[in-house]
Amino acid sequence: MSDDSDRDALIVAARRQADFAYAPYSGLKIGAALAFADGTVVIGANVENASYGLTLCAETVAVAKAMADGRRGGLEAVAVFVAGAAADTPPVMPCGRCRQVLHELAALGASDPLVWCANESDAVATRLSALLPQPFGPESLQRD
Ligand code: ZN
Repeated sequence: MSDDSDRDALIVAARRQADFAYAPYSGLKIGAALAFADGTVVIGANVENASYGLTLCAETVAVAKAMADGRRGGLEAVAVFVAGAAADTPPVMPCGRCRQVLHELAALGASDPLVWCANESDAVATRLSALLPQPFGPESLQRD
């Protein structure tokens, strides 16, 4: 993730994935795209459930896909795109659970990925460490 075109491509990937969201209850379709150091992009979309508490966010789905493919670390950037949001609504930020899930994957590679949160009219850039300061993660469970 070195320039604006990388950022734009990652946001477009997240935007496209939002079309595949299963969001019949909230109507909020969200896509996520994870960029890795080897150039791979792993995507996810939110998957709602009639039992609302079982809903999976786009970021969590993408992290689960990446880890199921054997990825451990190497996370450089994340894009989260919310489709169909009302005008003047700021981009959606990752929820607390997703911040924790993203941290687990990032911590395995000691990275602090850029996080772009975008909608049709705006994109906000931050770092995962700003979204989840003083995290609990694999490093917290190390013993002598
Ligand atoms: Zn979430």
